Amino acid sequence: MKILKLITLFLFSLTLFGCNPKTFFVEREIEKNLGRFNYEMLKDGKLHVVLVGSGGPMNNPERLPTSTAIIAGGEFILVDLGAGTIRNADLQNLPLKNLSAVFLTHFHSDHISDLGEANFWSLAMGRTKTLEVFGPVGTKDVVDGYNLAYKYDTSYRIAHHGAEFFPPEVCVPVAKTVRIAEADGAELFFNRNGLKAYAFRVDHSPATPSYGYRFEYKGNVVVISGDTKRIENLTKHTKDADIFICEGVRMELVKHVSDYAKKTGRPRIGKLLFDTLDYHIDPVDAGKVAKEANAKKLVFNHIVPPVTNFLTKRMFLDGVDYVYDGDIVMGEDGMEFILEPKQ
Ligand SMILES: [Zn+2]
Ligand SMILES: [Zn+2]
Repeated sequence: MKILKLITLFLFSLTLFGCNPKTFFVEREIEKNLGRFNYEMLKDGKLHVVLVGSGGPMNNPERLPTSTAIIAGGEFILVDLGAGTIRNADLQNLPLKNLSAVFLTHFHSDHISDLGEANFWSLAMGRTKTLEVFGPVGTKDVVDGYNLAYKYDTSYRIAHHGAEFFPPEVCVPVAKTVRIAEADGAELFFNRNGLKAYAFRVDHSPATPSYGYRFEYKGNVVVISGDTKRIENLTKHTKDADIFICEGVRMELVKHVSDYAKKTGRPRIGKLLFDTLDYHIDPVDAGKVAKEANAKKLVFNHIVPPVTNFLTKRMFLDGVDYVYDGDIVMGEDGMEFILEPKQ
C-alpha cells in the first residue's frame, strides 16, 4: 500500500512539473535505447578491443560466431562478421554509425554472413562514408554478391527516404583487395589516425588465401589469428603482442563429439565435425604460439565445440597453462579489453 501511495505521489508530482506520466516513461525508454551508444571509445586515445562474437559456426545459446571490434583514433573496424553479430554489436552499444571498415580473414560463412546487415545498420544509424571491405583475393566477389542481393533493398531505401538521406554512393560497400607481397611477410594496408593494420598469411586450406591481422596503436599490439592451423608465420607475426586473439578448436572434444555422433546414427554430423580437425588450432597449440611469440595475453574466440558448462569449459582450456604462463582468457560475447597508450 505504501509503495502504491509513493507511486501515486510520484506521478502526481510529474504532472505538477508539466510532465505527462505516460509520455515521461515512454520517452525515458526511447532515450535509453537511442542514447546508449558509446562514442567516447572513439576519441579517448585508448585501443579498445571488443569480442562481438566469440563462437564458432555451431549455434549455441552463449556465443555468436566470430566478430571482433577494434576501436581507436576515431576508427572502428570489425574483423569478420558471423551471423547475428551486428545485432550483438548494436546491443553492446558500439558506435555503428562510425563503422570505418570491415576486414575479412576468409570467406567461410561464419565469418561473412552479416556483411549486408553491417552495411545497412551502420548506414541507417548515420554513417556518412562508403563502407570499405578489406580482405584476401575473392573479397570483390563476396562484396559484389552482397551488393547484388541487397540491390532492391538499397533502391527501396533511396526511393523512400530520399537520396540526401541515403546517398547512393554511400549505400554500396566497396571491396579493397589486400595482397601480401612476400609469402611470410606482413602487408601494411591500413594506416589512419595512428591505427595501423597489417595482414599476414595463415593456413586454413582449402580456404586460401586466409589472413590474420596485426593492429598497432600508440605502442600497443593486438593480433587476430583468423582461422588457421598452427604455423610458423602465425608465431612470427604475433611477436610481442599485448593481446593475441586466437581461434580455438579443442581437438579431443570435437573428436569425441564426432565419434559419439557416428555411434548414435548421425554419421553426417560426425563426418563434418571430424573434417574440421585438420585446419584449425588446438588451444594448447595456441598457447605454444603465444609462448614462442612472447604475447602477454591469450584470448580465445571462435570457440569450438560450443562448450556451455563449467566442466567442458575447463576441458577446453585444459593444459594451456602448462605451455603458456601469460594471461589466458576464455572469450565471451561482449568482453572488452582497453589498452592505455604506451607512447
Ligand atoms: Zn574458416
Ligand atoms: Zn570459422
